[in-house]
Amino acid sequence: KESRAAASKAGGNYNIGLKNTENGVVTRFPPEPSGYLHIGHAKAAFLNDYFAHEAFDGKLIVRFDDTNPAKEKLEFEESIIHDLHLLGIKPDRVTYTSDYFQQLYEICERMIADGNAYADDTDPAVQKEERLARLPSKRRDRPAEESLAIFQEMRAGTELGKKHCIRARIEFDSLNGAMRDPVIYRFPKSDSEAPENEGDAPPKQAAEPTPHHRTGLTHAIYPTYDFACPAVDSLEGVTHALRTTEYADRNAQYHWFLTTLGLRPIQLWDFARINFVRTFLSKRKLARVVDAGIVTGWDDPRMPTVRGILRRGLTVAALRAFMLRQGPSRNAVTMDWTVLWAMNKKVVDGVAPRYTAVETGLGGAVVAVVVGGPGKPFVEERPRHPKNAAVGVRLVTFASTVLVEQADAVGFVVGEEITLMHWGNAIVREIVRDGGGGGGGGVVTGLRLELHLQGDVRKTEKKVTWLAAEGSELVGAELWTFDHLLTKDSLGKDDRLEDFLAADTAKMTEAVCDAGLATVEADSIIQLERKGYFRVDKAAGEGPQGRAVLFKIPTGAKEG
Ligand code: ATP
Ligand code: MG
Ligand code: MG
Repeated sequence: KESRAAASKAGGNYNIGLKNTENGVVTRFPPEPSGYLHIGHAKAAFLNDYFAHEAFDGKLIVRFDDTNPAKEKLEFEESIIHDLHLLGIKPDRVTYTSDYFQQLYEICERMIADGNAYADDTDPAVQKEERLARLPSKRRDRPAEESLAIFQEMRAGTELGKKHCIRARIEFDSLNGAMRDPVIYRFPKSDSEAPENEGDAPPKQAAEPTPHHRTGLTHAIYPTYDFACPAVDSLEGVTHALRTTEYADRNAQYHWFLTTLGLRPIQLWDFARINFVRTFLSKRKLARVVDAGIVTGWDDPRMPTVRGILRRGLTVAALRAFMLRQGPSRNAVTMDWTVLWAMNKKVVDGVAPRYTAVETGLGGAVVAVVVGGPGKPFVEERPRHPKNAAVGVRLVTFASTVLVEQADAVGFVVGEEITLMHWGNAIVREIVRDGGGGGGGGVVTGLRLELHLQGDVRKTEKKVTWLAAEGSELVGAELWTFDHLLTKDSLGKDDRLEDFLAADTAKMTEAVCDAGLATVEADSIIQLERKGYFRVDKAAGEGPQGRAVLFKIPTGAKEG
């Protein structure tokens, strides 16, 4: 419920409805276990969960749509369960299309016997031409007994069987292509048979049948999505089937199956597929960047996978609110990431504890002598969050030598009044530079600041982060920033992914942070003052050389 509150804060003001709900609501999310869940799947999962569990007191089925053995693996199945859990989605049931293979055979037999399906050995290319020309297959009127016998041969995987598929006998000359006798049973294709687009690798040799990850080599043939989806929806008691709009042409086909099979009607609800700029969501392409080592894995923070975006620091509350807000729209738009990250910032800002970091790379941090500072370091409490006392307090160490950031020090001018944050004002008395020919340039290697605590902190232009150089244990950290993997807003149909991959999409700078960071746990979201929000990927002590590993969280604002 906490996440609901955060979601509403993030802009969760959605108003999406379903029709015909008086007899209950059962929805389903039907992923194919052929990859990790990505942000597009998250939309489908959240919408189904919303109707089943938030808008109504219904049920959510997660059904593995496992009818393509060449693409599917147990690893993906397990990752999907895990990722739904990460999204806070609790299915009432987890099922498999493969659980229904026997019943689907029986339904298919009944369809053939009733004259509603037939075995066809027309060459697939010719089948395609006939469909386009709205012509019947020469096998369309073959006797049911003949088709039934061939169906048995198909199930047995005989040579004769292998030449055939089973097609629904709907309407060969329909104006709707989806009604022109779609295939309902077929031998599986090898994964590489159908390249995703022109730029992809050419098809490989068709392989031996791949064992199905659950049913092994028990089945020679598999039902198609067009057939299995309405049939299993009905068998499982689904009341409302949500589908992305690219299936809209198949809605008539879906209803035809239900009517023809005498099955209970199901309400279809179309929603738009979501896309993001500079992002590719195809599982096959995502697998390619993983396999090529361009990213560190499916959970790399640059990946648009559920794991990737959560690891980057997106909160589930913001993601859910964002997706439900898209809910009823049917326009397949390419979203900008900035809107989502801005919603995330609203969730994070009020609760993220504040820490201080000083970068140590790029010329190094500068040791500044603080004239008027304490003879011995001392510690005082300050709030961890300027506006939220519940976040607690931090211990700030004050000392007469402090570290300031090189980027700040190079901009100082002798005589200038600055503010040391959480302390007060100081006047820059001396700047020691190395290189740059003694002029304005060069690296700053030393500073002398004179405390001027009576100065007005509201009047200074420069608010400077600093850390006591003595009297407290600073914590090393790596600050990572990430960029989009693509150099192009959206890949065209003929674009080869590899031609549009950006270089240098992960950058790291080293820093030291205040001692409080030592106890921050992995997966926390914090703010480094003046630097932004970070997700703790590895706690202090756990990263390279014991450093904490922090990932910068985008905020939707232009990064400066
Ligand atoms: P991919 O192309 O990434 O393999 P898919 O649609 O083939 O996607 P499925 O596992 O079949 O992958 O998808 C499960 C569910 O998620 C389906 O209901 C599908 O419509 C939905 N879905 C997939 N991609 C998106 C997207 N970009 N936006 C919204 N819903 C999506
Ligand atoms: Mg699919
Ligand atoms: Mg796909």
